[in-house]
Amino acid sequence: MSARFSFDNSYARLPERFYIRQEPIAVAAPRLVFFNAPLAEALGLDAAALSGAEGAAIFAGNLVPGGAESLAMAYAGHQFGGFSPRLGDGRALLLGEVIGRDGQRRDIHLKGSGRTPFSRGGDGRAVLGPMLREAIISEAMAALGVPTTRALAVAMTGEAVLRERLQPGAVLTRVAASHIRVGSFQYFAARDDQEALKLLADFAIARHDPAAAEAENPYAALLSGVIARQARLVAQWLHIGFIHGVMNTDNMTISGETIDYGPCAFMDAYDPGTVLSSIDHGGRYAYANQPRMAQWNLARLAETLLPLLAEQEEAALEIAQAALSEFAPAFEAAYYDGFARKIGIADRSAEDAALIEDLLRRMAEQGADFTLTFRALADAAEGDSDAARAQFGDPAAFDSWAAGWRARLTREAAPAQVMRASNPALIPRNHLVEAAIRAAEDRDDFRPFEALMAVLARPYEDQPQNTQYSAPPKPEERVLATFCGT
Ligand code: AMP
Ligand code: MG
Repeated sequence: MSARFSFDNSYARLPERFYIRQEPIAVAAPRLVFFNAPLAEALGLDAAALSGAEGAAIFAGNLVPGGAESLAMAYAGHQFGGFSPRLGDGRALLLGEVIGRDGQRRDIHLKGSGRTPFSRGGDGRAVLGPMLREAIISEAMAALGVPTTRALAVAMTGEAVLRERLQPGAVLTRVAASHIRVGSFQYFAARDDQEALKLLADFAIARHDPAAAEAENPYAALLSGVIARQARLVAQWLHIGFIHGVMNTDNMTISGETIDYGPCAFMDAYDPGTVLSSIDHGGRYAYANQPRMAQWNLARLAETLLPLLAEQEEAALEIAQAALSEFAPAFEAAYYDGFARKIGIADRSAEDAALIEDLLRRMAEQGADFTLTFRALADAAEGDSDAARAQFGDPAAFDSWAAGWRARLTREAAPAQVMRASNPALIPRNHLVEAAIRAAEDRDDFRPFEALMAVLARPYEDQPQNTQYSAPPKPEERVLATFCGT
């Protein structure tokens, strides 16, 4: 076998109750439809060998590479507020871990690789559309500079999978800093397995917060680390108009990477109440609710850590509360710092928040496209306000805001440069993602998918030859709801 992975599997060395060993279930006809050669190279893998038939066999689950120790991870989770003590990898497997060229350890993980003991009623499979969707959006997020799991490959299985109708099956190979979730801790807390909790916390510290090991209270430092990462992450989502859609505790990582691209979506017109997920009936995970929901999930994490935080329950609660109280200020600082940069302010002062809020309020009232409005601000700062004004039903609403903004920008050194580096020209708009999936699924045409991937790899560049990718949807193209399609 030529495509060697240098696996070093630390999770598989944890006790047996952390996972169930399980091999991927072979499929009829592996066919590689997406392979991320630059990512493979960054991981130290043999991109040439993996881009052919052997890669197709590996990424479809038909060939387990040497050194892999495939396993289904155990985890629990609150899904839309309701607790399930046993979820686990029901259609996914951790193949193993590799150390990339950057020295970082990462999981190589198959999604859609067949039934496992955690599958319950499910078939253990995934379908092509949602796997392409995850590849498009997770790679776009990476290019946008947002911490995220990555997509290494998508392989079709040659098998049909029954969802609302028969759909082509596919397996996604996901790369992550780890797959430890809030729900991983909840799994052991629900079983009152304090030994496992401590092992898991030590594992998470070693992998994600090595400095915490030296802290006076390593577990409090771990909790603070997760809180800081998640506060920053959710702020970054809001900066680009991203709505995760299923912020359940099993879909929130300890690493601070975005994970689990189901019914996620980017909003077109700015409306803080936007909900696009078809399964989010109450709007629990609406755009502007995401920081609150992250905080709720982090409180669930803190609860699981109580036995490790201090011997006395009261002392533990106090430590947990203190850590949780760090979320709101950390989020707000990241949120306003990022939005300040989006309007050209590199060094924010306290009164800039009002300027930001005022713009956002006007955008919501005027139905302004979130991405185009911010992207147009650099030109507006340089004297050409046409594109920015065009986003406002009543352009005077922009003009009256812009007067104060221009006055503020006189104190900035290079505002247009700051804005062009913070405001993407291109995001994976729903109607484009949908069109790419439809072409692949209905006509076996992967060109729109490939073209979209290429354009989204450079989101902060104007690509005048590609204006069809930056424009918002026409009314008839608008996608009103997104589906998990699991
Ligand atoms: P998700 O909605 O992808 O976060 O998954 C939530 C839980 O449902 C996890 O335990 C998954 O492993 C499980 N699950 C989702 N889809 C399937 C499927 N097709 N077969 C088996 N388990 C599944
Ligand atoms: Mg999940």
